[in-house]
Amino acid sequence: MSILLDGTKLAKKIRESLKEKTQELIEKYKIKPHLAVVLVGDDPASQTYVKFKERACNQVGFTSTIINKSENISENELIDLIKQLNEDIDIHGILIQLPLPKHIDAEKVVNLVTPKKDVDGFHNENVAKLCKNQDALVPCTPLGITRILDEYDIDVQGKHCVIIGRSLIVGKPMAQLMLQRNATVTICHSKTNNIKEITKQADILIAAVGRANMVDESYVKDGAVVIDVGVSRVNDKLYGDVLFEKVKDIAAYITPMPGGVGPMTIACLLENTLKCYLNLVGNIND
Ligand code: NAP
Repeated sequence: MSILLDGTKLAKKIRESLKEKTQELIEKYKIKPHLAVVLVGDDPASQTYVKFKERACNQVGFTSTIINKSENISENELIDLIKQLNEDIDIHGILIQLPLPKHIDAEKVVNLVTPKKDVDGFHNENVAKLCKNQDALVPCTPLGITRILDEYDIDVQGKHCVIIGRSLIVGKPMAQLMLQRNATVTICHSKTNNIKEITKQADILIAAVGRANMVDESYVKDGAVVIDVGVSRVNDKLYGDVLFEKVKDIAAYITPMPGGVGPMTIACLLENTLKCYLNLVGNIND
């Protein structure tokens, strides 16, 4: 039976510490950290994620503003909005909720957010800095996973970390973070041959695919650390990538879903917002 990596509990601890720090900073600078979230369209999943983010901001004493635009907004209108938010000195973090409608070039839009307010860490400048081991805003989900590993004293150095998924949001930045910590990293994806032979070698297995229950016990080595990033909705029920009920019997540590990576993603969004605030407000006022 494995040890549960409790993301909900850790996220609460992080929020409590951020709340205290935020109060001190507001007293010092007389300015509240402020996150702007741009939501385009009315996708129910995106609306839910945005509400979670808003609630988390309120819990720690940040201001959050949700800017909800119609599905039909033109790319130019969205670009103008981002330029305004970049210039607005009262806003410290900007998040563009993805996915964007198909007629909008998401890559272009994300790269218009000024790197200083890029709480998601998706701007090319932040991506490059992460690859160069420089101080960067790091995507919240992989950052949250490193926080979980730290909290449970899971040593990564020299370990074989296998990541399933190579997205810019999870897989690739996760690989960078694990390399920074001296893990040996393998990334698998949809074209990987004999994937189980590779995942079976993992000391740390991170599944970021989006296929319900794909990773069963046949993918996992005895005693591995298993992190489930995936969230898939099937018949109105949410599933992770990992078949928890089977894998928990052989893993040494495992994240639940829900209650593992998800809450940590939001906690790290708060951390990133405060980092942007400190860079912007702290630099002006100190
Ligand atoms: P994505 O961009 O769709 O990437 C999925 C990755 O999985 C791709 O690299 C894809 O390979 C790979 N893949 C697909 N089918 C595969 C298969 N059969 N075998 C091996 N690899 C396969 O998704 P994402 O944005 O990284 O997100 C991944 C999952 O994590 C989703 O379920 C998402 O909802 C979830 N997520 C959760 C959180 C959270 O906070 N809990 C945050 C972010 C994402 P190719 O590159 O070859 O297509």
